[in-house]
Amino acid sequence: MQSALRILYPTQCVSCDALVEGDTGLCGKCWSDTPFITGAVCGACGAPLIGDVDPEETAYCEACHASPRPWLHGRAATLYSGNARRLVLALKHGDRTDLVPALSQWMARAAAPLLQPDTIIAPIPLHWSRMLKRRYNQSALFALELKPYVNAIVLPDLLRRTKPTTSLEGLSRDERFDLLRGAITIKPKYADEIQGKRVLIADDVMTTGATLTAATEALQTSRAREVCVLTLARVTKDA
Ligand SMILES: [Zn+2]
Ligand SMILES: [Zn+2]
Repeated sequence: MQSALRILYPTQCVSCDALVEGDTGLCGKCWSDTPFITGAVCGACGAPLIGDVDPEETAYCEACHASPRPWLHGRAATLYSGNARRLVLALKHGDRTDLVPALSQWMARAAAPLLQPDTIIAPIPLHWSRMLKRRYNQSALFALELKPYVNAIVLPDLLRRTKPTTSLEGLSRDERFDLLRGAITIKPKYADEIQGKRVLIADDVMTTGATLTAATEALQTSRAREVCVLTLARVTKDA
């Protein structure tokens, strides 16, 4: 039925005005300029792995080897480059919330190995001062849109930022970790609800993992059973 509707009403590429091919929401040209992650991936951040990887074993990228992650599993849909980077920036700074359904579908696909029915999805929060300016939290929009794919409970306000963080751009890895330590806590009213539960944190971009680490530690302090992370785009050295 859906494909029949698509033939009758072909949709436009989310990235340009061309007609969509396939089910990614992109035209052929934009699809080939979007660095989707496929094949063997790092079990902690979802970055692609090169070389021989035993599909039965969890392997890690160089960055996650050097800086072991406090969460259990992680996936990302794309690398943060090319058209994926353009779309993230359009969503964050260009009010393109219409991109959310297509981008969430990519995330749901990448997250398939992590999804279990009793998962709670929680977005990385914006500090209220930034929320006032932007009016929406792109990670919360992803979390809400992921709900039907994963049949999960979404708690958009489970996590909160206790201090505003200015732009992290230009900061070293260690500076980012220092700045974000303790910057995210869970809302006290959810403390009982997440005890012993499996939580999937959703975010738009993973750079060093400092923000995801702060969120994971907050969930672990509240005794979540398992924490996994899902991002739209992963920044890697070579991307
Ligand atoms: Zn296009
Ligand atoms: Zn990794």
